[in-house]
Amino acid sequence: MKIMEDCIAGLKKLLGIPEEYAVFFLSSGTECMEMAIENTVEKNSYHFVNGAFSKRFFETAADLRRQAVKCEAPFGAGFDFANAGIPAETELICFTHNETSTGVALDPADMERVALNNPGKLVAIDIVSSAPYMRIDYGKADMVFFSVQKGFGLPAGLGVMAVSPRAITKSNALAENSPQTYHSFKDLLKYGKQFQTPETPNVLSIYLLGKVIRDMLKVGIEEIRGETEQKAQMLYDFFRSSKKYSLFVTDPTLQSKTVLAINTAGGSAGIRDALQKKGLVVGPGYKEFKEKQIRIANFPAHSKEQILKLLQALE
Ligand SMILES: *Cc1c(COP(=O)(O)O)cnc(C)c1O
Repeated sequence: MKIMEDCIAGLKKLLGIPEEYAVFFLSSGTECMEMAIENTVEKNSYHFVNGAFSKRFFETAADLRRQAVKCEAPFGAGFDFANAGIPAETELICFTHNETSTGVALDPADMERVALNNPGKLVAIDIVSSAPYMRIDYGKADMVFFSVQKGFGLPAGLGVMAVSPRAITKSNALAENSPQTYHSFKDLLKYGKQFQTPETPNVLSIYLLGKVIRDMLKVGIEEIRGETEQKAQMLYDFFRSSKKYSLFVTDPTLQSKTVLAINTAGGSAGIRDALQKKGLVVGPGYKEFKEKQIRIANFPAHSKEQILKLLQALE
């Protein structure tokens, strides 16, 4: 209980989560998607889909037999938000802030505008690969979630979701007529009030997250964000002027600060092997881009020195 209480207090401080929001521990980012839908959508959800993870959010809703509607953009592109045509009956609008499959990050101002223009609807934002860098305006977000294996540099196996009082109210209303299992908001809240969980949780991971957050608070979140931007600048400057590599996301307003997808001329496998020999690990492209692209993470755990070393090796 003490471990959980400390971790939640640290999270609220680091990420600016309002005091009145609940913080739930689940098993993964994917489970956060499932629980957001299951607990707050009776019939209609709406999804902005431009890559593999936003697609998974949409498909999760469809799997749960909700009427899931999507606004689709090609991989690597952004959305025409003004003409999205979100149906009036929509209960929950779902965003994937940072599409890890393609390196597209949405402009927070666009998401906030959509929220403002749809005051009666709940908003969920996946920040799995942009936390803790991403700044959330919690006044315009009801469910915000991440898992710990990306920006927090921890082993996989823990999902974290901040939930607004508005979303709790909606889940309570739906609970009367829907099956309630152990990760229903109702049970999570009931146990959470005493800093407990409905099941025996991943205590080690919650403990480690608390420690990572304490380290991050020592450095300062603004310092971490500033350093993330400096490292992103180094990476983008290099790829913009490179003759051998090119950026998959060409619109500068959509280029993610935390995940870059890079087109390679000669295929990605050889480059990844050569980098590995120097102790540098980059990802392949996602699915159909596997052989053509490399993907580079720019998380708080990556130092400026490591980014420089990577760029020298790529050169
Ligand atoms: C990795 C990722 C997920 C899935 O998270 P899991 O913890 O593996 O379930 C969801 N969304 C985004 C944007 C991701 O990068």
